[in-house]
Amino acid sequence: MSTDGTGAAEQHRPVPAEHLPLRPLWLCRRCGQPWPCGRARLVLVAEYRDNTVGLFLYLAGLLYEAIDDLHQLDPSTGGDVKGLFDRFLGWPARHHGGAESPR
Ligand SMILES: [Zn+2]
Repeated sequence: MSTDGTGAAEQHRPVPAEHLPLRPLWLCRRCGQPWPCGRARLVLVAEYRDNTVGLFLYLAGLLYEAIDDLHQLDPSTGGDVKGLFDRFLGWPARHHGGAESPR
């Protein structure tokens, strides 16, 4: 009876929990929330903490693509641009506005 090394446990590295948008639906690939989900927002704020303008430019670009994607998916509901605008650009504005106290 020989013990050969075939049973070597492969190191299983879990995929980093990246909350990225699933296009063209623009839902989070991990948690299924409308993107950017809470986790994605945290990551973005951390990533762009020294570059607020960059964060807005990045999100504005994605907003443009999201409007385009969602409109092609369902032209009848493509009119919710205001909601999308708030979803992509409203929260960092509030985040950096500061004056608003959460109740
Ligand atoms: Zn998520």
